[in-house]
Amino acid sequence: MEKLKECIICNHKYFNKFIDCKDYFLSEEVFSICECRNCGFKFTNPRPLPDNLPGYYDPNEYLSYTNSKKGFLSSIYQLVKNITIRRKYLAINKLFSTGTILDIGCGTGDFLN
Ligand SMILES: [Zn+2]
Repeated sequence: MEKLKECIICNHKYFNKFIDCKDYFLSEEVFSICECRNCGFKFTNPRPLPDNLPGYYDPNEYLSYTNSKKGFLSSIYQLVKNITIRRKYLAINKLFSTGTILDIGCGTGDFLN
């Protein structure tokens, strides 16, 4: 684990613990989310080292990594995903006519596509 000593957005050195979150998906570990006192950015701290990140995702079970429609759960997931992508698209189009989008944790990239 890597303990951050500065906010990655504004480099402020002081933050508060915001909430603890348990990874129910795979690791069962509890992660602390901190909030920067200056800019309000929330981030995992401490955070896993980059080399350890694959251990938090099981590509065979993680539906966000697949476009498979095999099985009932995958079919439902794809249906709901398409509905939410359409809703996000319409909501963003109401607010912005031009611009660039950064989608963090974009799975298969279907929303950006
Ligand atoms: Zn900050």
